[in-house]
Amino acid sequence: MPHQSTTPGRPSHGLPAPARVLAVGAHPDDVEYGAGGTLAKWAAAGSEIHTVICTDGSKGTWDPASDPLELASRRQAEQRDAMVALGGKADNVGFLGWLDGELTAGLRQRWQLTHWIRLCRPTVLLGHDPWRRYLIQTDHREAGFLLTDALVAAADHTYFPEMRLPPHRAEAMLLWDADEPDHVEDVDDHLDAKLAALLAHRSQYRNSMGIHPGTEESDTAAFRARITGKLARQAAGLGFGHGEAFKILRLTDPNEG
Ligand SMILES: [Zn+2]
Repeated sequence: MPHQSTTPGRPSHGLPAPARVLAVGAHPDDVEYGAGGTLAKWAAAGSEIHTVICTDGSKGTWDPASDPLELASRRQAEQRDAMVALGGKADNVGFLGWLDGELTAGLRQRWQLTHWIRLCRPTVLLGHDPWRRYLIQTDHREAGFLLTDALVAAADHTYFPEMRLPPHRAEAMLLWDADEPDHVEDVDDHLDAKLAALLAHRSQYRNSMGIHPGTEESDTAAFRARITGKLARQAAGLGFGHGEAFKILRLTDPNEG
């Protein structure tokens, strides 16, 4: 896949907008934190964007009175709203449905995600970097390995032949929160879409975004500043203002090398 390469040692940037994209997050909201600006940019350029969320997000609360089933249902609706905020279709969100906090990159899960990849047939896959050192969030680590394992399985007809879907090979994979980022996407024009998608996750305002009733306006401004500050740091020296950083794997044959 052609890209605007820079000098050796500097990150590449500016992948051409892929025809189809599949982003895989452990929990509702992970995709928006990791790649919301990039997905919004590609959606605006005509890419078909899909997301799959591995767990039900039912532990995403500090409220001991919260009902896990009600929270999981609410978070599915929020994830669909977030997809629309990114410029995608609410129907293009899939849920594997595993219990929050207990995701494993096992064979059943690999079958499920391989099925999604073969259905969506994405040019580019995005997900968590499972090799990030000291990553203690188990679902993030497992979701990263699940994606890389499913990418290999999806590419070859000898894996899961009973699925009766043709194999599919993506051209590239982008891993967010990467241990060794080497690719940055310019998201200057898509900050509002990323923020709107994050703010669609209203159930997470108090426990993960620091947005509280009564001070919602100033808390939201502070949240926006934290997000845009990180994006500005990731674009430092690259000639644009805000970027999302990734480890890029360019996939010729995912079963070799
Ligand atoms: Zn998460």
